[in-house]
Amino acid sequence: MAEIQKQITTRIGPHDYEVVLENATGWDGRGSDGRINHRTLKVHLLVECLEAACVFETAWHEHFHGVLELAGFGDHSEQMVQALGAGIVQVLRDNPWMGSLEAFKEHLGLEDEGHPRGGARTGADDE
Ligand SMILES: [Zn+2]
Repeated sequence: MAEIQKQITTRIGPHDYEVVLENATGWDGRGSDGRINHRTLKVHLLVECLEAACVFETAWHEHFHGVLELAGFGDHSEQMVQALGAGIVQVLRDNPWMGSLEAFKEHLGLEDEGHPRGGARTGADDE
């Protein structure tokens, strides 16, 4: 497989995964545009001949595989991950202020004070 980039890592739970951007030469993704290996801690993304938006969605897709695996749902369905990956990309595209806590706080005019540590939840209407 031909790796075409510098080292990039992403964190999923307690693990740092290496993100590997690859071209089509030697790609063994078995029909997919990405894959994640929980033993080698690598996220492989096919980037050649793909729009960046597709790579973005694939990256989210593979991260959801990682999140579900870590949560003990190792037998999750591909359909579920497909829906989550496409869904989060749509939510982020349509609501960019949902992309980070800082942007969220700015959009809603929230301050840190009076909110749970690390979050902006009010506790009033969550669930
Ligand atoms: Zn998948």
